[in-house]
Amino acid sequence: MEEKVVIIGGSIAAISAAKAIREISPHNEIIIFGEEKYYPYYRIKISKGLLGNLEEDKLLIQKKQWYKDNNIQVHCDKKVTDVDPKSKEVVLADGTRISYTKLLLVNGASNRMPLIEGIDKLGVFDLRTLDGALRILEYLEDVKTVLLIGGGVQNLEIANVISGCGKKVIIAEFASRLMPRQLDEFASDKLKQAIEDKGIEVMLDTQVQEIFGEEKVKRFTTQSGVQGACDMVIYSTGITPNVSVVQNTDLEVNNGIVVNNRMETNIKDIFAAGDVSEFNGRVYGLWGTAMQQGKIAGANICNQDLIFEPSIPVTSLSAFGISVFSMGDIEGGEDIDSLVEVSDDEQRYYKIFMQNNRIVGTIVLGDNKKFMVIKGLIESKIDVDFNKSAKYSIDEFIKVIGNKKSS
Ligand SMILES: Cc1cc2nc3c(=O)[nH]c(=O)nc-3n(C[C@H](O)[C@H](O)[C@H](O)COP(=O)(O)OP(=O)(O)OC[C@H]3O[C@@H](n4cnc5c(N)ncnc54)[C@H](O)[C@@H]3O)c2cc1C
Repeated sequence: MEEKVVIIGGSIAAISAAKAIREISPHNEIIIFGEEKYYPYYRIKISKGLLGNLEEDKLLIQKKQWYKDNNIQVHCDKKVTDVDPKSKEVVLADGTRISYTKLLLVNGASNRMPLIEGIDKLGVFDLRTLDGALRILEYLEDVKTVLLIGGGVQNLEIANVISGCGKKVIIAEFASRLMPRQLDEFASDKLKQAIEDKGIEVMLDTQVQEIFGEEKVKRFTTQSGVQGACDMVIYSTGITPNVSVVQNTDLEVNNGIVVNNRMETNIKDIFAAGDVSEFNGRVYGLWGTAMQQGKIAGANICNQDLIFEPSIPVTSLSAFGISVFSMGDIEGGEDIDSLVEVSDDEQRYYKIFMQNNRIVGTIVLGDNKKFMVIKGLIESKIDVDFNKSAKYSIDEFIKVIGNKKSS
């Protein structure tokens, strides 16, 4: 049977699904509705390229002709407001009802707005969309000081870009270290030093309490009573899946739309993938995972049997003259052992976490090459004997375990 596949959301999960569907079936109808006015683009590039290269054509994942060639209908600037599983229809903002035989929800997530008095003032921004990036750029022109709320990768990328154009930047992070979910204290401290060397102020253990300003943002206070001037605020404090579009349905929603390992929801013929979905209690919020899940959803819409097996998340940041890499479980804990090495000049740092004779995570500073080798060892799920491994230097460890891998 030929399917009429309606896809809500036009981004990486959507395009991956559409590609998978088209590769399996030349005849299924594929219709994408995207709320933004752009064809699917590289969202991950808008923070790294904030001060340049924000032209649509340079950011598109596929050229517009690709959709024509593959007979994929893309409707930009079309928000879906409702889903009606009983009649198998979606409802657009203008009231138009579109029928489907299979539905895929890939409408992503939004940045979570922190509960701070004054967060709704003129001059407060978050970065999620290309239009959002363009609004930030426009406002930035007349600004002297930017307060960044949140010390995760996204805000650090923004800090790197805007401090480079002569603006004063202050980073306020609630946790006791930067990139708290990816780095340990040593690595985070090195990153903080590199950031401060660029003239950026870093405030840790800091909760912004209120943002002041009559018309526009002018200053802020923290819970510990620190006051500061700022004429722009950008927050990045986590994401919230865009689940409101299914609020009138019986779809199971926790933080995201709950899916099984085939990207199926609890309602037949409705699939979800990417940042809007939740698998095994987790909303991934990662580009690579959205791509992987979109592909699986697309194939399974065409009655294949692809299974989602989560890959181990990798985070990297190259900015402020330092590069940091983190992969997998870096929390430590009673049954987790680690192997640590620091170069004499402290420019290179390696930490490998092992649990139940497996390498489960790593943190690497300043050495992309060795990170890639350790990443390969983690992915190979090779057995390691920690008691012996602990005595090795990092180079010996890589050699011994690498030999084991290839034998
Ligand atoms: C600035 C920035 C930098 C990032 N950097 C990285 C990185 O370096 N590495 C990494 O792994 N991840 C990164 N991410 C996260 C990554 O971009 C997301 O995980 C990924 O884009 C999720 O893809 P998605 O297809 O699920 O949804 P999204 O990319 O969120 O797209 C969903 C689309 O659906 C649209 N939509 C929403 N509701 C509706 C509706 N009702 N009707 C129609 N359309 C709708 C939205 O407007 C949006 O266009 C970054 C994110 C941002 C914002």
